[in-house]
Amino acid sequence: MLQPALTRLEQGFQSSRLTQIFDPLLAQKNIECWVKRDDLIHPVISGNKWRKLKYSLDHALQLHSHTVLSMGGAYSNHLHALAYACQQLGLNSMGFIRGEKPKRINPTLADLQQWGMVLQYISRAEYRTLRQYKGHQALPGIKTGEYWLPEGGATELALKGLAEMVTELDTEFDVICVPCGTGTTLAGIINACPENTEVYGFSALKGAGFLQEDVKKLLNTSRLNTPCWNIQLDYHFGGFAKCNPALLLFMQDFANRHAITLEQVYTAKMFYGLFDLIAQDHFKSGQKILAIHTGGLQGNRA
Ligand SMILES: *Cc1c(COP(=O)(O)O)cnc(C)c1O
Repeated sequence: MLQPALTRLEQGFQSSRLTQIFDPLLAQKNIECWVKRDDLIHPVISGNKWRKLKYSLDHALQLHSHTVLSMGGAYSNHLHALAYACQQLGLNSMGFIRGEKPKRINPTLADLQQWGMVLQYISRAEYRTLRQYKGHQALPGIKTGEYWLPEGGATELALKGLAEMVTELDTEFDVICVPCGTGTTLAGIINACPENTEVYGFSALKGAGFLQEDVKKLLNTSRLNTPCWNIQLDYHFGGFAKCNPALLLFMQDFANRHAITLEQVYTAKMFYGLFDLIAQDHFKSGQKILAIHTGGLQGNRA
């Protein structure tokens, strides 16, 4: 049973719909493609960030915490979801923001402040140091009643929430695709998937070969030796949050064709990669593919 405040918050969520998309390429290759609309589950808290936060916030409430602390960049979808959720749950929140305070506050930071998150700007070196603290009491100097969430909300409890992306599906897919930052979402999905589903992660970061090991550390032992997943490393478009005209054109075209808005950090790169693999005959005729729209559209306002 979830804590009552969390149950109330969850009542504001819609179930995550599946939409089939149609396209000449899909028809030509005889591929069925569905999109799981986690971008639409809530007007503010979108996508995988809610999945990751749900059970950690429940844990924080169970412990009677009064403040949740975490870290992120100036456009962080994680902090955005966290600040809003904390405000709704009656919790204080505090965010360590990477880099100097910008001269003009961007829309993400403005939202964080509006929802009462106390912001502390820290150097890139300090930010890197904070990354090593994982447990909810691991932050040095943490006080009674404070609950620490590591970068991106990547905890053991996050995996439990992420698994629900799969367990709530009522049909099976041959392939499930998801964008990767830390790879936590990918790991949560792999853990929950039937053995015969192949899971594809698409890295939003350049040179993300390390993700392979990071993801392995999060897998259930029963999943460790099944070759049922992979990470695509070549669709980063120059690196994290980098973009080029081809990607922007793809996003525009995708919106026109399918009436689905993507953002350039994660979801556009995944869909670009997926369509590229389909065009290269990477998948078998007749396969049924699910791509997870992990949300993050708040970042488009910048
Ligand atoms: C954070 C985020 C991801 C990446 O999630 P990880 O679990 O860090 O791999 C993907 N898509 C969106 C929209 C995100 O905000």
